[in-house]
Amino acid sequence: MANQLMEMMHLKYERANLAYLLSVQNIKDAEAGLYGQSTISKYLRRDSTPAAFGGYEDTDGWCGMSVSSYYLTDCLLQEFQRQEPSITQLLQGTFGQVLRSDHTRKIARKVTLTSGTMSSYAVMNENWMIISWVMVQSESERSLEPMYEGLATRYTAAGIEKANYHWVDRDCCAAFRVQNSHPAEHLLREAWRTTEATVAEVTSGDLTNICASRSKFNEFISVKLDLFHCMRRFCRECVSEHHSLYSSFCQFLSAAFTIVDQQDLKRLKEAYVFCGIVPANPTKQHIREHCRTKIPQPRELVKRVEEVLLHFHLLKDVNDIPLFKPSMLKAWRIQRVHMLRGCLSDPEREDGILYRYGGTLQLNHVQGEGASVPVWIPIRGTSQQEGYHFHQAQWVTGNKVSPELFQAQGMTGVARWNFQRLVDLKQPGVVLPAVFDPLLITDLNMAL
Ligand SMILES: [Zn+2]
Repeated sequence: MANQLMEMMHLKYERANLAYLLSVQNIKDAEAGLYGQSTISKYLRRDSTPAAFGGYEDTDGWCGMSVSSYYLTDCLLQEFQRQEPSITQLLQGTFGQVLRSDHTRKIARKVTLTSGTMSSYAVMNENWMIISWVMVQSESERSLEPMYEGLATRYTAAGIEKANYHWVDRDCCAAFRVQNSHPAEHLLREAWRTTEATVAEVTSGDLTNICASRSKFNEFISVKLDLFHCMRRFCRECVSEHHSLYSSFCQFLSAAFTIVDQQDLKRLKEAYVFCGIVPANPTKQHIREHCRTKIPQPRELVKRVEEVLLHFHLLKDVNDIPLFKPSMLKAWRIQRVHMLRGCLSDPEREDGILYRYGGTLQLNHVQGEGASVPVWIPIRGTSQQEGYHFHQAQWVTGNKVSPELFQAQGMTGVARWNFQRLVDLKQPGVVLPAVFDPLLITDLNMAL
């Protein structure tokens, strides 16, 4: 596409150059009296060499002529129309055994629509490839039903087993209410405790909710709340991100939610020793890359998080400002329900759907078997999802774009993103072609 755009720009340049030379010639002809006209004063310019048109590389326009954004937009739209069928086909041919979805409004603000505010909803698979991307009018589950219906048809038509896990950013289980806390209740230690009565209350009855992926896609799908979104709900209840205790609270909280696989950690430590790094205290970065982590089962999880909250609930900084807002107590009571209902705990499965093996790596580039450590690529991560949002915002340039341009930029962005994820799988021999053109790639693949 970039190449094509370059060609079109060059063509535009040549045409403009030609038009300029023709008009220069026109003026010269007129002055020579070719059209039977002459100036009254008989003025003759001293220098009859016209100003140079300038090279293609001139950044400030060619002799006063510049390329309008309309022209470039037209180029882009035309190119998208050419590629659209193959991009759609690519997207429809993307499946996954795990779904992750979330809403964002960030991108929706960029498009001008008569229908008002919308939000963007993307579904990704275990490899962070986008399976489906839609703009929805409201954030209700109902508006997602047609999309999941389509997804079900896609899986059935291809004869592929449907995804069994779905990580969501909200509405993971049946609706519930928690009691409001009294004004000073959050100062009492007992208020944070979890009683057996609470556990019994929140885990009885029908706990599943009616979500579009269950009603229209796979009725046996297990819906999980994304860890990142759950953690964010706690962090939001701190008075400020700049509070001196904020970062240590987030670290403790994160540690409470995840358990590092001890076998993996042992192996990493052994590799440290092999490389001569003593004491063998693996860095956070290394633990993240080479050790799998797990979110514990409901009761254990609640206990771990409760301890962190109890530790911080009265803490203040040097200016006597408490870390928690009083509303933290309510947030805890709400999140506790999700924890107890198992919305967060990782499924107990042996086949390791949560991590993908990414080969091995020589620690510190030290040779030898002892320095070889496995690379684990997480499926439910936190950062990449936000990374996707970030990229999504980059694909659509401008703040008020037409629906057509929005679609063209967005869909091209999705196709590029998915190709890049294939590269990220770190499987040998996968390289992206220098020119990104899904249509050409499809044609080539068919010719092979
Ligand atoms: Zn839940």
